[in-house]
Amino acid sequence: MSAAVLADPSRTCGTCNACCVHLGIDELQKPRGTPCKHLCRAGTTKQCGIYEQRPATCAAFACMWRMGFGPSQLKPSLSGLLITPQPADESGEPNHAGPFMRVFVSVIDRKNAKRYRRNVIQQLLNETAVRAIVEIIDGEDEGRLYRGGKVYRFAIGERPPWARSFENLYWLVDPDPIASYYLCGADDAPPEGGARALV
Ligand code: SF4
Ligand code: SF4
Repeated sequence: MSAAVLADPSRTCGTCNACCVHLGIDELQKPRGTPCKHLCRAGTTKQCGIYEQRPATCAAFACMWRMGFGPSQLKPSLSGLLITPQPADESGEPNHAGPFMRVFVSVIDRKNAKRYRRNVIQQLLNETAVRAIVEIIDGEDEGRLYRGGKVYRFAIGERPPWARSFENLYWLVDPDPIASYYLCGADDAPPEGGARALV
């Protein structure tokens, strides 16, 4: 889970808990794709059972829908798409203007995501400063990188040969087994525990 602070007050999480399931949280040693142990039943859904004491990472996080991106139907619990901004540096602050703003598009419900997936990715590329989008589909071992009008496929956990063709990008290998790769600018520091290689 990466930090973000620009939540749109008109958009609330309500019954959605997608980030509590699909993203990793360092403080809790929670891996991506595993429901947080603090999720408690609340009516027909599950919500945070330690809300007031939740880790700082959780308190600071907002998915891009919550930050105001896209139409109301793009809410992760409705669309099956969890769109996570990655800060352009390790300060934890989102940086929309940065040349290396990255975004993870996690397809968390394939059936629902079918309606929105392509349009959302195109909209992100057309209307924002995002330069690279990494798309990962839950349960699949292949991901896609959208960059410069092209789509590059990669196997989760392997460094693809085409990574060499990018100038000024570092290909970071993260120990997390689900989302193993990060793209970042040449000046970015690698995440803790991550290895990096110039491509
Ligand atoms: S995925 Fe977005 S809308 Fe859903 S709980 Fe997390 S921040 Fe809220
Ligand atoms: S601590 Fe609470 S907010 Fe954080 S992931 Fe777990 S359930 Fe979600």
